Amino acid sequence: MKEAYLELKDLTKSFGNDADKVVAVDHINLQVKEGDLVTLLGPSGCGKTTTLRMIAGFHTPTGGDVYIDGVSMNQIPPNKRPTAMVFQNYALFPHMTVFENIAYGLRIRKESNDEVKRKVEDIMRLIGLENLGDRQPRQLSGGQQQRVSLARALVMEPKVLLFDEPLSNLDAKLRVSTRLEIRKLQQRVGITSVYVTHDQEEAMTLSDKVVIMDRGLIQQVGSPAEIYSHPVNRFVAGFIGKANFLQAVVDSVESEQLVLQFLGKKIVAPRWNKEIKTGDEVLIVARPESILPEHPNEELVEGVVVNSVYFGSQMLYEVELPDHTVLQIEVADPQYHPIFTQGHKVGLAFKDRS
Ligand code: ATP
Repeated sequence: MKEAYLELKDLTKSFGNDADKVVAVDHINLQVKEGDLVTLLGPSGCGKTTTLRMIAGFHTPTGGDVYIDGVSMNQIPPNKRPTAMVFQNYALFPHMTVFENIAYGLRIRKESNDEVKRKVEDIMRLIGLENLGDRQPRQLSGGQQQRVSLARALVMEPKVLLFDEPLSNLDAKLRVSTRLEIRKLQQRVGITSVYVTHDQEEAMTLSDKVVIMDRGLIQQVGSPAEIYSHPVNRFVAGFIGKANFLQAVVDSVESEQLVLQFLGKKIVAPRWNKEIKTGDEVLIVARPESILPEHPNEELVEGVVVNSVYFGSQMLYEVELPDHTVLQIEVADPQYHPIFTQGHKVGLAFKDRS
């Protein structure tokens, strides 16, 4: 598998002129391994769609370049690129049958009728559209239309498949099942894919790698677990999952962990940033499930429960600290732990997760 099958080098796009220039994508660099699915994730306006459109060739970069399998795309028009896009609104031709919608690109390429029939039928079988070839798009459900749109992209045998928020028009339940289908299919075909979404759960469940973007810049690239456990900054930590932020001072540095001073008590945190030294002020991200309320004792950070909600498999607490910050805490399997209610004093154990 090639490590840099798709490569973005110093890719930049600005819109408008000097007076009201918007830098939508700001000198980004990214390598996508062959066969991987990478999501571009970030808040509205962070530049993910613009990046995708530059890969497809719909936008010309202001600077930098896109390489696919080692070949520069700068001079190659969109219809000649080895890419295909699955759109949010499906973009199917309403007056054509499902078969003809899928066949469209192959016919433009002037492939023979036999080839078109073989390829379209193969892909319809692969995607589970066997019996729908004669229907028109309006006779299909939203989920089926999205599958036709995926089939139409895949039948072109692109080197890189691009997804532009493909599930946003589906209802919540269908979104979950369709994203699992997309992932299975993508892995079966082994096609290198770039997927744009602003839905963090979608990104976490689909991706080999997640690229977190903000204001035209890449903030972090990593596997879903890396991004969740080792966010590089506050933006990433707050964007993915729930996060409590604690301001602490490093008391001592050990090989695998940091001992921190926090509100007069010592807590430990995994040490994965090797540059941190004794005496540094650090911002610690404590995920809600990595804090456990216990009976108070002098070694634990103390707090008062201001809210507690029982969910059966989970207990959610809000605990106020002496400095008045309120922590969000989630305890799984509450039957194995003491249950606290509003007004209870608790000691907080910070679990050392890495
Ligand atoms: P969303 O999730 O809302 O689609 P996004 O992360 O995909 O957001 P982009 O669509 O890439 O963001 O836009 C990035 C920035 O560039 C935004 O500030 C946007 O307003 C601006 N922008 C995008 N397209 C154009 C355009 N054609 N002309 C001018 N500005 C644009």
